[in-house]
Amino acid sequence: MIIPKPTTFTLMPGSFALSESCMIELGTDNQEVRCVADYLRSVLAAEPCGLTLDIGVAERSAIRLRLSDELTEAVDPGAPVDERYELGIFDDLIELVAAQPVGLVRAAQSLHQLVLSHLRIDADTRELVGGSVDLRALHISDRPRFGWRGMHLDSSRHFFSVAEVKRFLDLLAAFKFNVFHWHLTDDQGWRIEIDAYPMLTSVAAERAGDEPSRNGFYTKDQVRDVIAYAAERHIDVVPEIDLPGHTRAVLAAYPELSCTGGPFAVSTRWGIHKDVLCLGNPATTEFVERVLAEVAELFQSQFVHLGGDECPVDRWGACVKCQRLVAAVGLTDESELQTWFSRRAADYLVGVGRTAVFWDEVLDGGLPAGVALMSWRGVEYGQRAAALGHDVVMAPESHLYFDYRQTSQGLDPGADWAEPTTLAQVYGFEPTAGLNDPPAIARVLGAQANVWTELIPDMARLESMVLPRMCALAEVLWSDPSPRDWAEFRNRLTTHASWIRSIYNPHESL
Ligand SMILES: [Zn+2]
Repeated sequence: MIIPKPTTFTLMPGSFALSESCMIELGTDNQEVRCVADYLRSVLAAEPCGLTLDIGVAERSAIRLRLSDELTEAVDPGAPVDERYELGIFDDLIELVAAQPVGLVRAAQSLHQLVLSHLRIDADTRELVGGSVDLRALHISDRPRFGWRGMHLDSSRHFFSVAEVKRFLDLLAAFKFNVFHWHLTDDQGWRIEIDAYPMLTSVAAERAGDEPSRNGFYTKDQVRDVIAYAAERHIDVVPEIDLPGHTRAVLAAYPELSCTGGPFAVSTRWGIHKDVLCLGNPATTEFVERVLAEVAELFQSQFVHLGGDECPVDRWGACVKCQRLVAAVGLTDESELQTWFSRRAADYLVGVGRTAVFWDEVLDGGLPAGVALMSWRGVEYGQRAAALGHDVVMAPESHLYFDYRQTSQGLDPGADWAEPTTLAQVYGFEPTAGLNDPPAIARVLGAQANVWTELIPDMARLESMVLPRMCALAEVLWSDPSPRDWAEFRNRLTTHASWIRSIYNPHESL
């Protein structure tokens, strides 16, 4: 059975033999359903399935995709996206039915996983045994619990190529994640092309002393390519431009945006840096607005993450310009500057039709109305924000920092400054725990795991850090919370170990 566990799952007598003689049939013939058919075709053709199916009118057994008015009528009024779907496997037909195209993609992802977990590959010839995959007849009716099922990736501390990011998106798609939070800027590297500030990429994207392949940036065309690839999988790409702290790379390129004038280098050490954007400088306001304008033009996501974490106020306290601003806008002292800045940046995003999301430090000074909070230091910040009527995404380091070690034994790679986070802990995480008030519970959009890459230099390490923990998180976010049965999940995960290992590089605990 699949991960995340479906809402209902019924085995039936019989089976379907999936082979290259099957067709993919458009039960509803429109452009969006055609796109889903292309997607299904591409994932079945990829290794290790290697099944190339034609799309067309079926004269033989088929996989049929169709949108159903009946399911559409069940969609909550006003809900913009409804991912519900049904998947039926019969003797001569596999049918994927959904209210909306996104549901068909989720159905295709379930089918893909069923095919992967039933593959029998000949060890010598590397070919499919018998030329087909036998799938048990069944019926699945399914819909997700949360609308924000996210994975984060830090492309600053170590750079990941477009091909690697796409491989990561495939992993998200395999377990029905629908948000990719892309951390694009930090002290150790600025990774996105901004036309108005060319030195962000000619200077701020290169960290001295690192391997060339682990430096770099994404051109706007590459970003568009990643967004389109994610969109085919109905994954939203939420960019993060971390402001006003974590900006040493910006200051290396544009030292005039600092309080002291520099000079600075792109940072080669991890941790928190005292040199941050000078908020008393009008050029900083112009910088922030021009960058966000280009980001909003490039990304389609409703949310844009503006960081807001780990910003020391030391430089602001000693800066004439920042102190002048404190007096001019009537603040008590520099400790209130970040809230002032966050409010303005969030307002700017509203002006370009977007919604700001911040790390939870911004809650300390009072969260601007209408912005969302990402709770990382613990769930209590998210709980407070939800009670105040803010949308919240839970990403506590206690359970969902996948750069932390998975076991306490041996040489488990991962951050050694924190306690390990085990698979069982992730599986036991409940995003709404501690909230009793229904309106506050409704503010919890979902959760995500964060993957900071200080100690993750390449894709193999990245995969071994997120797998198998993201399988557990997928189930927390998609499946009904009761009953959640750890032993049953562990057994089910074992049935997927073979295909996961054949494609990815999971942790040895899988
Ligand atoms: Zn200043």
